[in-house]
Amino acid sequence: MASAKGFTLWFTGLSGAGKSTLVEIISARLNEHGVGHEILDGDVVRTNLSKGLGFSKEDRDTNIRRIGFVAELLTRHEIPVITAAISPYKNVRNEVAAKIGRQRFIEVFVTASLDELVRRDVKGLYEKALHGEIKNFTGVSDPYEAPDDPQVTVNSEDETVEESADKIWNYLLANEFINVEQPVLQA
Ligand code: ADP
Repeated sequence: MASAKGFTLWFTGLSGAGKSTLVEIISARLNEHGVGHEILDGDVVRTNLSKGLGFSKEDRDTNIRRIGFVAELLTRHEIPVITAAISPYKNVRNEVAAKIGRQRFIEVFVTASLDELVRRDVKGLYEKALHGEIKNFTGVSDPYEAPDDPQVTVNSEDETVEESADKIWNYLLANEFINVEQPVLQA
């Protein structure tokens, strides 16, 4: 068993950059250590909490504020939260960070070049966006504002999935968001 205090691990980055992949790994590691937590995945939130919202700046900001609202409630009660939404606008990310409290908000910037994301095209969306079949697509026809000072940056073009996950996990350990109990050695 490990113990944890409340925190929000906030992933931000373009579609296909690797947010969901890394969330799954970090979530699995937390489970291995018996650390209960919640995940607020952007796609899942958009089919529930944010159903009906579109992709204008206003709607995107509303979506992020809603995720931030739930994340703050859970974090306040010591439940670790992991969020994975593109969250393209810096101001609203900073607004959420301030509400949660900077000491408990960990911004993870997941990045890769647009060329690499188009090559991957995990969900087949870049092809459509580049052909104008999807409007307001972040990174192609809509802005993405990278964080100025993220707590962790992972470059999924240069790092393996394991390397990126380790970076994030080690940040949580090094900053004592999680305490993994060491077995007591008998003399
Ligand atoms: P997002 O959630 O950001 O839209 P996904 O996690 O769905 O992105 O897709 C990311 C893709 O990139 C996956 O196919 C994953 O295997 C691949 N990938 C390669 N290297 C990495 C890395 N270092 N971290 C995360 N994903 C990576």
